[in-house]
Amino acid sequence: MHAGMRSSMTVQSVAVLGLGTMGAAMAARLVDAGLDVRVWNRSPEKSEPFGDRAAASAAEAVEGADAVLTMLFDADSVRSVADDVLPAMHQGAIWIQSSTTGPAAAEEFAARAAEAGVRFLDAPVLGTKAPAEQGKLTALLAGDDADVDAVRPVLDAISVKQVRVGAPPQASALKIAANAWIATVTAGIGQSLTIAERLGVDPAVLLTALEGSAVDTPYLQMKGKAVLARDFTPSFEVTGLLKDVRLAAETPGVDPTLLDALATLYSSTADAGHGDEDVSAVWHAFQR
Ligand code: NAP
Repeated sequence: MHAGMRSSMTVQSVAVLGLGTMGAAMAARLVDAGLDVRVWNRSPEKSEPFGDRAAASAAEAVEGADAVLTMLFDADSVRSVADDVLPAMHQGAIWIQSSTTGPAAAEEFAARAAEAGVRFLDAPVLGTKAPAEQGKLTALLAGDDADVDAVRPVLDAISVKQVRVGAPPQASALKIAANAWIATVTAGIGQSLTIAERLGVDPAVLLTALEGSAVDTPYLQMKGKAVLARDFTPSFEVTGLLKDVRLAAETPGVDPTLLDALATLYSSTADAGHGDEDVSAVWHAFQR
């Protein structure tokens, strides 16, 4: 954004910081949508597919950008990148913070943005690698309406659904609630397939039995089949979901029994060498 640009205008240039599974796919969508995209990633090899759109540093990537989208691993990685980029962003530029950091960190980032004279959208996303590649994410959005309107070209490129939830950090709060659900059902899938198998039933028949019933979901069928095929190619890595389970367990006023058990299961999965596999690899934790 050029100094003094009103946030009622729509953004044309976007810097994407973080080219992991999600960030790389989202940046590619923004390029396809015709936006003026610059990218940066800590490990430079992930920037290579973006050719001369790749910047040598995060600060260089955000220079002159109307909006900056962060898609980094966790709150600490966002913190360290924010230290570099907030002083380099234009006054009034919009920081779209899409990494899953939990509500406490999102609140902190909103305050840091305000201090730096930068607009802030708390904007985590729902959906994994394939929806990101297809521009079919769900964007959870907490912030000013004018800023949401201003980043419309970005939202249209990466998402098919947007959910507005007031002010930061409400979108990050919603995201943590959603990922607690994902952690619960993913573990449940691994557990029930294991129960069927140990009781001498073909576990594939469990999926058939539940198919089309009220408790069926596309997710159960998709992840269940992946587990049966022992295909743990990552859409969302175990380490990422473990981070989110731990964030959810910090929620005041919620009994942590289930979240603590989930943290144990996902962390033992990671400790057994499956941390960079798909979350469905939590199935391993049920094997005795
Ligand atoms: P990922 O593939 O693990 O990528 C993480 C990114 O963060 C990489 O670009 C990595 O850089 C960077 N990073 C990590 N630590 C850093 C640091 N200290 N300084 C600078 N950069 C750092 O993760 P992802 O799956 O794309 O997810 C990104 C975020 O979106 C996470 O918060 C995740 O929870 C969330 N999310 C993921 C999914 C999903 O299904 N995958 C869905 C929705 C939301 P290097 O390449 O140098 O390691």
